[in-house]
Amino acid sequence: MRLYNTLTRAVEEVVPVEPGHVKMYACGPTVYRYAHLGNLRTYMLADLIRRALRLEGFRVTLVQNITDVGHMTDESSPEAIDKMLLAVEDEGLQPLEIAEKYTRSVFEDAAALGIDEPDMSPKATEHIPEMIGLTKTLIDREHAYVVDNGSVYYDVASFDGYGKLSGNTLDKLREGHRDLETDPRKHHPADFALWKAAGPGRLMKWPSPWGDGFPGWHVECSAMSMEYLGDRIDIHTGGTDLRFPHHEDEIAQSEGAVGHRVVSIWVHGGHLRQAGQKIAKSTGNVVRVQDLVDRGIDPLSFRWLCFQTQYRSEMDFSWDAMETADQRVKQLRRRMAGWAPAAEASSDEAVAFDGRFRAALADDLSFPAAVRVVNELVSSTAVPGGEKYALLADWDRVLGLDLQREAVAAWSPTEEMRALMKERDEARAAKDYATSDRIREQLTSMGVEVMDTATGTQVRPRD
Ligand code: AMP
Ligand code: ZN
Repeated sequence: MRLYNTLTRAVEEVVPVEPGHVKMYACGPTVYRYAHLGNLRTYMLADLIRRALRLEGFRVTLVQNITDVGHMTDESSPEAIDKMLLAVEDEGLQPLEIAEKYTRSVFEDAAALGIDEPDMSPKATEHIPEMIGLTKTLIDREHAYVVDNGSVYYDVASFDGYGKLSGNTLDKLREGHRDLETDPRKHHPADFALWKAAGPGRLMKWPSPWGDGFPGWHVECSAMSMEYLGDRIDIHTGGTDLRFPHHEDEIAQSEGAVGHRVVSIWVHGGHLRQAGQKIAKSTGNVVRVQDLVDRGIDPLSFRWLCFQTQYRSEMDFSWDAMETADQRVKQLRRRMAGWAPAAEASSDEAVAFDGRFRAALADDLSFPAAVRVVNELVSSTAVPGGEKYALLADWDRVLGLDLQREAVAAWSPTEEMRALMKERDEARAAKDYATSDRIREQLTSMGVEVMDTATGTQVRPRD
């Protein structure tokens, strides 16, 4: 599996530090507002990388944080307000209630889009001690300094590689900040807060060695990624806007604390736009999962739409393209329902298609190429329908389009299966478990999954 690494500006092979086990960290949602399809495209990217790696046989651990404190309206200004607290004012709820409301909503939206849950979803507010610990380490290692009001800043000049990810080196930043108002207590305008002193009346604050305060935004990702994945992380993802300052600062923090490279491959997803403008709440062009549902579009079809564009490119959202994608996904499911599944796709032609599909994913997650393989397979005259079914069902582990939905709904057990199911229920009623187990095996060997339900034995096709 090869991925484009923003840090080295090259496509690189994924070679996990722990052989066979890929450790991934994805920057996650800020939970003071609803997620839009742009955010979700970026969260989907992390899951797609995980799915593609699993298809190649890797074990993958994906950690994605939940930002429930410290995301400010303007990171560079001392007057900035925590966006979480703005939502508290707007909605008349407590910070915890706001966080719960939007965390639940982002998980529901992600599930509707077939984005599997991360293996761990740590919350910033539950990792304040780890962030304080990291801040202390950075002070000890002379990468950070305390200012008189009880805030702690990272000293960017103390970190040699500052700017290596984004190209925003210190000289360029000093130029850029000349006219900007920044905290006069900072040594360099690009110095950023690891810990911020709590102003009067601040709701979310914690005690620390420097007084009551709250963490800066960037520090949560360094602290939580290293807490759960250790100090060698294979892949880190986020949207392209996070390259700077968020990820640049994360590198400075993590590497400053441990003294060596922490993340091997930085992957950044392109923005979702509408009519040429980035989708963002501030632009007022937000499209949500609910908007798809309201128009009768299966949210999973958004995946197919995303697959038409390379993940690194900006992607334009239009309702026309969305409708077309939805029609295609529904058509694919109908085609699947017309084929009787083969046990395996073993013809030479099918094997060749499989190779091409996997090669496309392995080549920097080239979904547009993978989609072409899907389309060619569906219309191919060389591969029998049953084998097409078997291939698509297997690829759906990555595509996540629920391609078997119609086939499964249209499916019913054969006469022979029905007779066995009845015989098994009778055996179970007579507590003859040897016979019931033998029949279970017989049914299983016919390619179905056997379930014990309140109404007796049920079967369904195995995926
Ligand atoms: P935020 O809630 O703004 O911190 O964004 C959460 C994630 O969504 C980050 O990884 C952002 O880079 C990403 N993101 C924000 N806007 C877009 C967009 N229009 N298209 C794609 N990703 C986005
Ligand atoms: Zn992050």
